Amino acid sequence: MAKIQMTTPLVEMDGDEMTRILWKMIKDELLEPYIDLKTEYYDLGLPHRDETNDQVTRDSAEAIKKYGVGVKCATITPNAQRVEEYKLKDMWKSPNATIRGALDGTVFRTPILIDCIKPTVRTWKKPITIARHAYGDVYAATEYRVPGKGKAELVFTDEAGSETFRKTVYDFECPGVLQSMFNKDSSIESFAHVCFQYALDEKIDMWFSTKDTISKQYDQTFKLLFQKIYDENYKTAFEKAGIEYFYTLIDDAVARVVRSEGGFLWVCKNYDGDVMSDMVSTAFGSLAMMTSVLMSPDGKYEYEAAHGTVTRHYYRHLKGEETSTNPIATIFAWTGALRKRGELDGNAALSAFADKLDAASIRTLEEGVMTKDLAGLCEGIEPTVVNSENMIKEIRERLDAGM
Ligand code: NAP
Ligand code: MG
Repeated sequence: MAKIQMTTPLVEMDGDEMTRILWKMIKDELLEPYIDLKTEYYDLGLPHRDETNDQVTRDSAEAIKKYGVGVKCATITPNAQRVEEYKLKDMWKSPNATIRGALDGTVFRTPILIDCIKPTVRTWKKPITIARHAYGDVYAATEYRVPGKGKAELVFTDEAGSETFRKTVYDFECPGVLQSMFNKDSSIESFAHVCFQYALDEKIDMWFSTKDTISKQYDQTFKLLFQKIYDENYKTAFEKAGIEYFYTLIDDAVARVVRSEGGFLWVCKNYDGDVMSDMVSTAFGSLAMMTSVLMSPDGKYEYEAAHGTVTRHYYRHLKGEETSTNPIATIFAWTGALRKRGELDGNAALSAFADKLDAASIRTLEEGVMTKDLAGLCEGIEPTVVNSENMIKEIRERLDAGM
Protein backbone atom coordinates (compact mmCIF):
# COMPACT_ATOMS: atom_id res chain seq x y z
CA MET A 1 0.00 0.00 0.00
CA ALA A 2 1.32 3.46 -0.90
CA LYS A 3 2.26 5.64 2.06
CA ILE A 4 0.16 8.72 2.83
CA GLN A 5 1.93 11.89 1.71
CA MET A 6 2.15 15.12 3.70
CA THR A 7 2.47 18.61 2.21
CA THR A 8 3.36 20.64 5.31
CA PRO A 9 5.65 19.39 8.08
CA LEU A 10 4.51 18.82 11.64
CA VAL A 11 6.66 20.36 14.35
CA GLU A 12 7.92 17.34 16.30
CA MET A 13 9.24 17.96 19.83
CA ASP A 14 10.96 14.94 21.32
CA GLY A 15 11.22 14.60 25.09
CA ASP A 16 12.58 12.64 28.04
CA GLU A 17 12.73 9.34 29.88
CA MET A 18 9.99 6.71 29.39
CA THR A 19 7.92 8.87 27.08
CA ARG A 20 10.95 9.36 24.81
CA ILE A 21 11.12 5.58 24.48
CA LEU A 22 7.39 5.34 23.73
CA TRP A 23 7.77 8.18 21.23
CA LYS A 24 10.20 6.19 19.07
CA MET A 25 8.14 2.99 19.30
CA ILE A 26 5.01 4.85 18.20
CA LYS A 27 6.80 6.41 15.22
CA ASP A 28 8.45 3.15 14.16
CA GLU A 29 5.43 0.89 14.53
CA LEU A 30 2.32 3.01 14.11
CA LEU A 31 3.22 6.01 11.95
CA GLU A 32 6.15 5.55 9.60
CA PRO A 33 4.92 2.28 8.03
CA TYR A 34 1.81 4.16 6.85
CA ILE A 35 2.79 7.80 6.40
CA ASP A 36 5.66 9.44 4.59
CA LEU A 37 6.11 11.38 7.80
CA LYS A 38 7.29 14.93 7.27
CA THR A 39 8.36 16.61 10.49
CA GLU A 40 10.63 19.41 11.56
CA TYR A 41 12.38 17.76 14.48
CA TYR A 42 13.32 19.53 17.73
CA ASP A 43 15.00 17.54 20.45
CA LEU A 44 13.62 18.91 23.73
CA GLY A 45 15.25 16.10 25.69
CA LEU A 46 16.91 17.68 28.71
CA PRO A 47 20.55 17.04 27.61
CA HIS A 48 19.92 18.87 24.32
CA ARG A 49 18.06 21.74 26.01
CA ASP A 50 21.10 22.13 28.23
CA GLU A 51 23.54 22.00 25.29
CA THR A 52 21.62 24.74 23.47
CA ASN A 53 20.99 26.85 26.59
CA ASP A 54 17.30 26.09 26.01
CA GLN A 55 17.38 27.81 22.60
CA VAL A 56 15.89 24.64 21.09
CA THR A 57 12.68 25.17 23.09
CA ARG A 58 12.30 28.75 21.90
CA ASP A 59 13.02 27.63 18.33
CA SER A 60 10.38 24.92 18.52
CA ALA A 61 7.80 27.49 19.66
CA GLU A 62 8.71 29.70 16.68
CA ALA A 63 8.32 26.68 14.39
CA ILE A 64 4.77 26.10 15.71
CA LYS A 65 4.01 29.73 14.89
CA LYS A 66 5.36 29.17 11.38
CA TYR A 67 3.74 25.81 10.53
CA GLY A 68 0.66 25.95 12.77
CA VAL A 69 0.71 22.43 14.28
CA GLY A 70 3.11 20.69 16.66
CA VAL A 71 3.22 17.48 18.66
CA LYS A 72 5.20 17.29 21.87
CA CYS A 73 6.57 14.45 23.97
CA ALA A 74 6.57 14.88 27.77
CA THR A 75 9.67 16.63 29.07
CA ILE A 76 11.41 17.00 32.40
CA THR A 77 10.91 20.33 34.15
CA PRO A 78 14.22 20.63 35.98
CA ASN A 79 14.37 21.09 39.75
CA ALA A 80 17.43 21.03 42.02
CA GLN A 81 17.59 17.23 41.94
CA ARG A 82 17.49 17.16 38.11
CA VAL A 83 20.23 19.81 37.91
CA GLU A 84 22.41 17.39 39.87
CA GLU A 85 21.28 14.27 38.00
CA TYR A 86 21.89 15.75 34.53
CA LYS A 87 24.76 18.07 35.55
CA LEU A 88 22.85 21.03 34.08
CA LYS A 89 24.28 24.48 33.46
CA ASP A 90 21.07 26.07 34.73
CA MET A 91 17.64 25.16 36.11
CA TRP A 92 15.90 25.67 32.73
CA LYS A 93 12.30 26.84 32.65
CA SER A 94 9.45 24.42 32.00
CA PRO A 95 9.29 23.92 28.19
CA ASN A 96 5.51 23.93 28.42
CA ALA A 97 5.54 27.33 30.09
CA THR A 98 7.95 28.68 27.44
CA ILE A 99 5.79 27.42 24.57
CA ARG A 100 2.56 28.59 26.23
CA GLY A 101 4.08 32.02 26.73
CA ALA A 102 5.32 32.27 23.13
CA LEU A 103 1.94 31.27 21.69
CA ASP A 104 -0.22 33.11 24.28
CA GLY A 105 -2.03 29.78 24.35
CA THR A 106 -4.76 28.12 26.38
CA VAL A 107 -4.56 24.46 27.39
CA PHE A 108 -7.58 22.19 26.81
CA ARG A 109 -7.56 18.81 28.55
CA THR A 110 -9.85 15.97 27.49
CA PRO A 111 -10.14 12.41 28.84
CA ILE A 112 -10.19 9.40 26.49
CA LEU A 113 -13.12 7.18 27.45
CA ILE A 114 -13.50 3.42 27.09
CA ASP A 115 -16.51 1.29 28.02
CA CYS A 116 -14.83 -0.89 30.61
CA ILE A 117 -13.55 2.02 32.71
CA LYS A 118 -16.48 3.75 34.33
CA PRO A 119 -16.10 7.34 35.47
CA THR A 120 -16.55 7.76 39.23
CA VAL A 121 -19.53 9.99 38.44
CA ARG A 122 -22.14 7.60 37.11
CA THR A 123 -23.95 10.08 34.89
CA TRP A 124 -20.85 10.97 32.83
CA LYS A 125 -21.09 9.38 29.39
CA LYS A 126 -19.02 11.79 27.30
CA PRO A 127 -15.72 13.56 27.96
CA ILE A 128 -15.64 16.89 29.76
CA THR A 129 -12.95 19.20 28.42
CA ILE A 130 -11.53 21.83 30.74
CA ALA A 131 -9.99 25.08 29.53
CA ARG A 132 -7.93 26.90 32.12
CA HIS A 133 -6.97 30.55 31.80
CA ALA A 134 -3.22 30.43 32.39
CA TYR A 135 -2.58 34.09 33.10
CA GLY A 136 -2.60 36.25 36.24
CA ASP A 137 -4.90 35.93 39.27
CA VAL A 138 -3.49 34.28 42.38
CA TYR A 139 -0.54 32.84 40.36
CA ALA A 140 0.83 36.34 39.84
CA ALA A 141 -0.44 37.93 43.04
CA THR A 142 1.42 40.20 45.46
CA GLU A 143 1.11 39.02 49.04
CA TYR A 144 2.02 40.41 52.40
CA ARG A 145 2.06 38.85 55.85
CA VAL A 146 0.69 41.68 57.96
CA PRO A 147 2.73 41.84 61.18
CA GLY A 148 0.29 43.82 63.32
CA LYS A 149 -1.89 46.92 63.62
CA GLY A 150 -2.04 49.16 60.54
CA LYS A 151 -4.04 50.14 57.47
CA ALA A 152 -4.07 48.29 54.14
CA GLU A 153 -5.12 50.27 51.06
CA LEU A 154 -5.64 49.60 47.36
CA VAL A 155 -4.23 52.45 45.27
CA PHE A 156 -4.18 53.08 41.53
CA THR A 157 -2.03 55.77 39.95
CA ASP A 158 -2.63 56.45 36.27
CA GLU A 159 -0.02 56.89 33.55
CA ALA A 160 0.06 60.67 34.09
CA GLY A 161 0.87 60.17 37.76
CA SER A 162 -2.44 61.13 39.33
CA GLU A 163 -3.97 58.93 41.95
CA THR A 164 -7.39 57.92 40.57
CA PHE A 165 -8.37 55.33 43.14
CA ARG A 166 -7.73 54.74 46.82
CA LYS A 167 -9.74 52.54 49.12
CA THR A 168 -9.15 51.02 52.53
CA VAL A 169 -8.96 47.25 52.27
CA TYR A 170 -8.89 46.74 56.03
CA ASP A 171 -7.87 48.50 59.21
CA PHE A 172 -5.86 45.78 60.89
CA GLU A 173 -6.21 45.58 64.69
CA CYS A 174 -4.01 42.44 64.80
CA PRO A 175 -1.66 40.44 62.51
CA GLY A 176 -3.17 39.02 59.32
CA VAL A 177 -2.67 38.46 55.60
CA LEU A 178 -3.05 40.62 52.53
CA GLN A 179 -3.17 39.78 48.83
CA SER A 180 -3.68 41.70 45.61
CA MET A 181 -4.07 40.22 42.19
CA PHE A 182 -4.72 41.41 38.66
CA ASN A 183 -5.73 40.43 35.17
CA LYS A 184 -5.81 42.24 31.82
CA ASP A 185 -8.66 42.75 29.34
CA SER A 186 -6.34 41.71 26.50
CA SER A 187 -5.58 38.36 28.12
CA ILE A 188 -9.21 37.70 29.04
CA GLU A 189 -10.27 38.56 25.49
CA SER A 190 -7.79 36.25 23.81
CA PHE A 191 -8.74 33.52 26.28
CA ALA A 192 -12.41 34.00 25.31
CA HIS A 193 -11.64 33.85 21.57
CA VAL A 194 -9.62 30.64 21.89
CA CYS A 195 -12.37 28.97 23.92
CA PHE A 196 -15.18 29.94 21.53
CA GLN A 197 -13.07 28.71 18.60
CA TYR A 198 -12.34 25.43 20.36
CA ALA A 199 -16.04 24.81 21.06
CA LEU A 200 -16.84 25.53 17.41
CA ASP A 201 -14.02 23.26 16.18
CA GLU A 202 -15.25 20.43 18.37
CA LYS A 203 -18.96 21.28 17.99
CA ILE A 204 -19.59 21.10 21.72
CA ASP A 205 -21.45 23.39 24.14
CA MET A 206 -19.39 25.83 26.17
CA TRP A 207 -19.93 26.67 29.83
CA PHE A 208 -18.19 29.53 31.57
CA SER A 209 -18.30 30.08 35.30
CA THR A 210 -16.96 32.63 37.79
CA LYS A 211 -18.16 34.16 41.04
CA ASP A 212 -19.39 37.51 39.72
CA THR A 213 -22.07 37.92 42.40
CA ILE A 214 -19.31 38.32 44.99
CA SER A 215 -16.54 39.71 42.81
CA LYS A 216 -18.44 42.63 41.33
CA GLN A 217 -15.55 44.17 39.37
CA TYR A 218 -13.03 41.39 38.85
CA ASP A 219 -15.12 38.35 37.93
CA GLN A 220 -17.82 40.59 36.51
CA THR A 221 -15.28 41.82 33.94
CA PHE A 222 -14.60 38.23 32.83
CA LYS A 223 -18.33 37.60 32.49
CA LEU A 224 -19.04 40.79 30.52
CA LEU A 225 -16.07 40.45 28.17
CA PHE A 226 -16.98 36.87 27.34
CA GLN A 227 -20.59 37.86 26.65
CA LYS A 228 -19.55 40.78 24.44
CA ILE A 229 -17.14 38.66 22.42
CA TYR A 230 -19.75 35.95 22.06
CA ASP A 231 -22.48 38.33 20.90
CA GLU A 232 -20.21 40.16 18.46
CA ASN A 233 -18.26 37.27 16.99
CA TYR A 234 -19.62 33.81 17.67
CA LYS A 235 -23.39 33.87 18.33
CA THR A 236 -24.36 33.23 14.71
CA ALA A 237 -21.74 30.51 14.22
CA PHE A 238 -22.81 28.75 17.45
CA GLU A 239 -26.48 28.82 16.42
CA LYS A 240 -25.57 27.47 12.99
CA ALA A 241 -23.52 24.67 14.55
CA GLY A 242 -26.38 23.86 16.95
CA ILE A 243 -24.26 24.44 20.04
CA GLU A 244 -24.83 26.63 23.08
CA TYR A 245 -22.83 29.08 25.15
CA PHE A 246 -23.91 29.93 28.63
CA TYR A 247 -22.54 31.63 31.69
CA THR A 248 -23.33 30.50 35.20
CA LEU A 249 -21.99 30.91 38.74
CA ILE A 250 -19.16 28.53 39.62
CA ASP A 251 -21.25 26.88 42.37
CA ASP A 252 -24.05 26.21 39.96
CA ALA A 253 -21.56 24.96 37.35
CA VAL A 254 -20.08 22.43 39.79
CA ALA A 255 -23.54 21.08 40.62
CA ARG A 256 -24.52 20.89 36.96
CA VAL A 257 -21.24 19.22 35.94
CA VAL A 258 -21.79 16.42 38.45
CA ARG A 259 -25.34 15.83 37.19
CA SER A 260 -24.45 16.14 33.50
CA GLU A 261 -23.75 13.54 30.82
CA GLY A 262 -20.54 15.34 29.87
CA GLY A 263 -19.74 16.26 26.28
CA PHE A 264 -19.00 19.98 26.74
CA LEU A 265 -16.22 22.48 27.26
CA TRP A 266 -16.00 23.91 30.77
CA VAL A 267 -14.09 27.18 30.76
CA CYS A 268 -12.48 28.09 34.07
CA LYS A 269 -10.52 30.96 35.54
CA ASN A 270 -6.93 30.15 36.46
CA TYR A 271 -7.41 28.79 39.99
CA ASP A 272 -10.74 27.06 39.26
CA GLY A 273 -9.15 25.36 36.24
CA ASP A 274 -6.16 24.21 38.25
CA VAL A 275 -8.36 22.55 40.86
CA MET A 276 -11.25 21.35 38.68
CA SER A 277 -9.02 19.77 36.03
CA ASP A 278 -7.47 17.49 38.65
CA MET A 279 -10.90 16.61 40.01
CA VAL A 280 -12.34 15.88 36.56
CA SER A 281 -9.33 13.89 35.33
CA THR A 282 -9.22 11.73 38.45
CA ALA A 283 -12.95 11.07 38.26
CA PHE A 284 -12.58 9.96 34.63
CA GLY A 285 -10.03 7.31 35.60
CA SER A 286 -6.40 7.99 34.78
CA LEU A 287 -3.92 10.70 33.86
CA ALA A 288 -2.51 8.23 31.35
CA MET A 289 -5.79 8.58 29.41
CA MET A 290 -5.86 12.36 29.19
CA THR A 291 -4.89 14.40 26.15
CA SER A 292 -3.98 18.00 26.09
CA VAL A 293 -3.88 20.63 23.36
CA LEU A 294 -2.49 24.13 23.54
CA MET A 295 -4.31 26.51 21.22
CA SER A 296 -3.33 30.09 20.44
CA PRO A 297 -5.75 32.94 19.64
CA ASP A 298 -4.49 33.01 16.05
CA GLY A 299 -5.14 29.30 15.50
CA LYS A 300 -1.86 27.48 16.23
CA TYR A 301 -2.02 24.05 17.89
CA GLU A 302 0.30 21.96 20.03
CA TYR A 303 -0.77 18.45 21.05
CA GLU A 304 0.62 16.38 23.92
CA ALA A 305 -0.20 13.81 26.59
CA ALA A 306 -1.23 15.33 29.92
CA HIS A 307 1.06 13.06 31.95
CA GLY A 308 4.79 13.51 32.57
CA THR A 309 7.83 11.46 31.58
CA VAL A 310 6.89 8.54 33.91
CA THR A 311 10.24 8.61 35.69
CA ARG A 312 9.62 5.64 37.99
CA HIS A 313 9.04 3.35 34.98
CA TYR A 314 12.11 4.75 33.23
CA TYR A 315 14.41 3.90 36.12
CA ARG A 316 13.05 0.34 36.04
CA HIS A 317 13.59 0.25 32.27
CA LEU A 318 17.22 1.33 32.77
CA LYS A 319 17.72 -1.59 35.14
CA GLY A 320 16.58 -3.89 32.34
CA GLU A 321 13.14 -4.52 33.86
CA GLU A 322 10.05 -4.71 31.70
CA THR A 323 7.58 -1.83 32.07
CA SER A 324 3.93 -1.55 31.27
CA THR A 325 3.69 2.15 30.46
CA ASN A 326 0.50 3.34 28.80
CA PRO A 327 1.18 4.81 25.33
CA ILE A 328 -2.43 5.85 24.58
CA ALA A 329 -2.25 9.57 25.46
CA THR A 330 0.96 9.93 23.45
CA ILE A 331 -0.63 8.14 20.47
CA PHE A 332 -3.61 10.49 20.72
CA ALA A 333 -1.26 13.48 20.78
CA TRP A 334 0.11 12.30 17.42
CA THR A 335 -3.32 11.58 15.95
CA GLY A 336 -4.64 14.95 17.15
CA ALA A 337 -1.77 16.71 15.41
CA LEU A 338 -2.02 14.62 12.21
CA ARG A 339 -5.78 15.15 12.01
CA LYS A 340 -5.40 18.91 12.42
CA ARG A 341 -2.57 18.99 9.83
CA GLY A 342 -4.84 17.06 7.49
CA GLU A 343 -7.72 19.52 8.06
CA LEU A 344 -5.54 22.58 7.48
CA ASP A 345 -3.94 21.13 4.33
CA GLY A 346 -7.11 19.59 2.89
CA ASN A 347 -5.37 16.21 3.24
CA ALA A 348 -8.33 13.90 3.89
CA ALA A 349 -6.19 10.74 3.81
CA LEU A 350 -4.06 12.01 6.68
CA SER A 351 -7.08 12.89 8.84
CA ALA A 352 -8.70 9.54 8.03
CA PHE A 353 -5.54 7.73 9.11
CA ALA A 354 -5.63 9.57 12.45
CA ASP A 355 -9.23 8.41 12.97
CA LYS A 356 -8.28 4.82 12.16
CA LEU A 357 -5.36 4.82 14.59
CA ASP A 358 -7.61 6.23 17.34
CA ALA A 359 -10.20 3.56 16.61
CA ALA A 360 -7.59 0.77 16.62
CA SER A 361 -6.26 1.99 19.98
CA ILE A 362 -9.74 2.10 21.51
CA ARG A 363 -10.62 -1.31 20.07
CA THR A 364 -7.48 -2.82 21.62
CA LEU A 365 -8.54 -1.52 25.04
CA GLU A 366 -12.18 -2.52 24.60
CA GLU A 367 -10.99 -6.05 23.82
CA GLY A 368 -9.28 -6.07 27.20
CA VAL A 369 -5.67 -5.72 26.05
CA MET A 370 -4.16 -2.97 28.19
CA THR A 371 -1.25 -1.75 30.27
CA LYS A 372 -1.07 -2.36 34.00
CA ASP A 373 -2.32 1.10 35.05
CA LEU A 374 -5.70 0.48 33.42
CA ALA A 375 -6.13 -3.20 34.30
CA GLY A 376 -6.95 -2.33 37.90
CA LEU A 377 -9.64 0.17 36.88
CA CYS A 378 -11.35 -2.04 34.39
CA GLU A 379 -14.82 -3.56 35.04
CA GLY A 380 -16.80 -6.33 33.39
CA ILE A 381 -13.97 -7.93 31.39
CA GLU A 382 -10.89 -9.94 32.27
CA PRO A 383 -7.98 -7.76 31.13
CA THR A 384 -4.85 -9.08 29.42
CA VAL A 385 -1.94 -7.04 30.79
CA VAL A 386 0.83 -6.32 28.30
CA ASN A 387 4.08 -4.37 28.31
CA SER A 388 4.43 -1.14 26.32
CA GLU A 389 5.97 -2.82 23.30
CA ASN A 390 3.28 -5.47 23.03
CA MET A 391 0.55 -2.88 23.58
CA ILE A 392 1.80 -1.04 20.50
CA LYS A 393 2.05 -4.32 18.53
CA GLU A 394 -1.55 -5.20 19.46
CA ILE A 395 -2.71 -1.78 18.28
CA ARG A 396 -0.81 -2.25 15.02
CA GLU A 397 -2.52 -5.59 14.34
CA ARG A 398 -5.92 -3.95 14.73
CA LEU A 399 -4.85 -0.98 12.65
CA ASP A 400 -3.77 -3.31 9.82
CA ALA A 401 -7.05 -5.20 10.09
CA GLY A 402 -8.95 -1.91 9.73
CA MET A 403 -6.97 -0.56 6.74
P1 NAP B 1 4.20 11.40 35.69
O1 NAP B 1 5.33 11.25 34.75
O2 NAP B 1 2.89 11.80 35.07
O3 NAP B 1 4.02 10.05 36.48
C1 NAP B 1 3.42 9.92 37.74
C2 NAP B 1 2.91 8.52 37.94
O4 NAP B 1 1.67 8.36 37.26
C3 NAP B 1 3.82 7.43 37.35
O5 NAP B 1 4.85 7.09 38.22
C4 NAP B 1 2.84 6.33 37.10
O6 NAP B 1 2.45 5.68 38.30
C5 NAP B 1 1.62 7.10 36.61
N1 NAP B 1 1.64 7.34 35.14
C6 NAP B 1 1.74 8.54 34.49
N2 NAP B 1 1.70 8.36 33.17
C7 NAP B 1 1.60 7.02 32.96
C8 NAP B 1 1.53 6.20 31.80
N3 NAP B 1 1.57 6.73 30.57
N4 NAP B 1 1.44 4.86 31.97
C9 NAP B 1 1.39 4.31 33.20
N5 NAP B 1 1.45 5.04 34.33
C10 NAP B 1 1.55 6.38 34.22
O7 NAP B 1 4.52 12.51 36.80
P2 NAP B 1 5.83 12.73 37.73
O8 NAP B 1 6.44 11.43 38.08
O9 NAP B 1 5.36 13.66 38.75
O10 NAP B 1 6.83 13.54 36.81
C11 NAP B 1 7.89 12.95 36.08
C12 NAP B 1 8.57 14.00 35.23
O11 NAP B 1 7.67 14.47 34.24
C13 NAP B 1 9.03 15.22 36.02
O12 NAP B 1 10.38 15.50 35.69
C14 NAP B 1 8.13 16.34 35.55
O13 NAP B 1 8.84 17.58 35.45
C15 NAP B 1 7.70 15.89 34.19
N6 NAP B 1 6.35 16.35 33.77
C16 NAP B 1 6.23 16.77 32.47
C17 NAP B 1 5.01 17.14 31.97
C18 NAP B 1 4.92 17.58 30.54
O14 NAP B 1 5.90 17.58 29.82
N7 NAP B 1 3.77 17.95 30.08
C19 NAP B 1 3.87 17.07 32.78
C20 NAP B 1 4.01 16.60 34.09
C21 NAP B 1 5.26 16.23 34.57
P3 NAP B 1 3.15 4.34 38.87
O15 NAP B 1 4.61 4.65 39.04
O16 NAP B 1 2.42 4.14 40.15
O17 NAP B 1 2.92 3.24 37.86
MG1 MG C 1 -3.78 21.26 39.61
